[in-house]
Amino acid sequence: MFRKILIANRGEIAVRIARACREMGIASAAVFSEADRAALHVRLSDEAYPIGPAPSRESYLRIDKLMDIARHAGCDALHPGYGFLAENPDLARACSANHIAFIGPSPEAMERLGSKTAARQLAARAGVAMVPGTQDTIETLNEAGNIARGLGYPVLLKAVAGGGGKGMRLVPADSDLPAAWRDAASEARNAFGDARLYLEKYLDRPRHIEIQIVGDAHGHIVHLGERECSVQRRHQKVIEESPSPIMTPKLRRAMGEAAVRLATSAGYTNAGTVEFLVDAAHNFYFLEVNTRLQVEHPVTEMVTGLDLVKLQIRVAAGEALPFAQEDVTLAGHAVECRLYAEDPANQFFPSPGKILSRRAPSGPGIRLDDGVYEGFTVSTEYDPMLGKLIAWGQDRAEAIARLDRALGEHAVTGIKTNSDLLLAILRDPEFLRGEIFTRWLDDRLPSLLREGQARESDAVAEDAAILAALLHFTGTKDAASAGIAAPETPSRWKREARFEQVDRSK
Ligand code: ADP
Repeated sequence: MFRKILIANRGEIAVRIARACREMGIASAAVFSEADRAALHVRLSDEAYPIGPAPSRESYLRIDKLMDIARHAGCDALHPGYGFLAENPDLARACSANHIAFIGPSPEAMERLGSKTAARQLAARAGVAMVPGTQDTIETLNEAGNIARGLGYPVLLKAVAGGGGKGMRLVPADSDLPAAWRDAASEARNAFGDARLYLEKYLDRPRHIEIQIVGDAHGHIVHLGERECSVQRRHQKVIEESPSPIMTPKLRRAMGEAAVRLATSAGYTNAGTVEFLVDAAHNFYFLEVNTRLQVEHPVTEMVTGLDLVKLQIRVAAGEALPFAQEDVTLAGHAVECRLYAEDPANQFFPSPGKILSRRAPSGPGIRLDDGVYEGFTVSTEYDPMLGKLIAWGQDRAEAIARLDRALGEHAVTGIKTNSDLLLAILRDPEFLRGEIFTRWLDDRLPSLLREGQARESDAVAEDAAILAALLHFTGTKDAASAGIAAPETPSRWKREARFEQVDRSK
């Protein structure tokens, strides 16, 4: 087994990896940028090394610095987490050149699946159904028009190098194609340095359901069931759960077998995710493979009882998978929500700043995978995800009730979070009935935000009532002469937080 693992990441996923190392008796070495000197992952790792200035291009994305640190610290393995360099074959190659085990698939398997068109070609050869569209890059706008008309509008222009919903444009009709083509190409060039595009038929109201796979270096690949990730905002997941509310044993078997077939034909090892879109008739279409651990992996851990990070480490060290497909059993239901430092009421603007106080939720069935703590300053440099809150229950209703209860316990001051919006989603009748699809949240958002604001006004009204009672009992006429701050919008907690924010800016 490994002696020391370099964690090439930050935030909650770096904390998650450090925890697995600690439980396995493996030393962990963190890296941190200048903005992350006091970050939780630094505090919870055994060793920590500076990697450069705050911008990730100068720190977390520097393969040369990672290799220097790994050598200097005597690491024999590297875990890339997700994001940053996790799907970059160059990092995996640099690791092997430096005799460091990369905890992930081989660079060749990553390349076979990394480009969306290459993955579609592989899926076709493996007999896995995919969304109708092209398997090659489209060279010209003219060619795109011909193909789009053949597929029938609406179509989706997608970046060959795509990820994170970037370089993707919905094209409702022929006349929209030139502008969409231009926008998608320039966004793809900016995000990936690669402007190549291809086309897919745009599916109406699909669900996003993905299969977790894990393979060892001895030719065994198994799947660990599915995650339903249909609650998305602008193609980004917000709430994930396992099992999917529409899953049947037959569909799970068919999707699981397709995922394993594709992974096998790519020579895949370690953990990965095969994403599908599923239509109302339960037809499933291959979308893409993520060659790394996913943000939403905890819901799979909660229903399978497995520790995916430990499994990743074990198979990277050459161990055989300790179970076969028939040993994988799913129990109960798990739901995860992503907690962000952002303001849904203000166009989801990031809300960086110092966390002044924080009450973390706990209790039966609750797991908090966190990257922050009270007193920590959320930086503007990185993704504003604070962490994930996950609930397990005997069934879907209990898991949702627990997550709702835990979100209520979760109290943060100093920054804004998306917590009210998450609660509004969890209480939505359509969500509760499992009637979700990938555009569901974008469609429902205006009314959900209004409900969130209504809850906030309720809190203000409550403050006002408390103040009125105080004035009545103290016999004072107004708040100022009683030395009490009068309530104003929004709630007391948020007000305190804002006050401190103003203070800090001095
Ligand atoms: P990325 O890698 O950029 O995240 P994906 O291919 O994984 O892109 O797609 C992300 C999301 O975009 C999906 O979960 C789904 O909501 C939507 N999407 C992608 N392709 C299609 C399609 N052909 N039809 C309808 N929605 C799609």
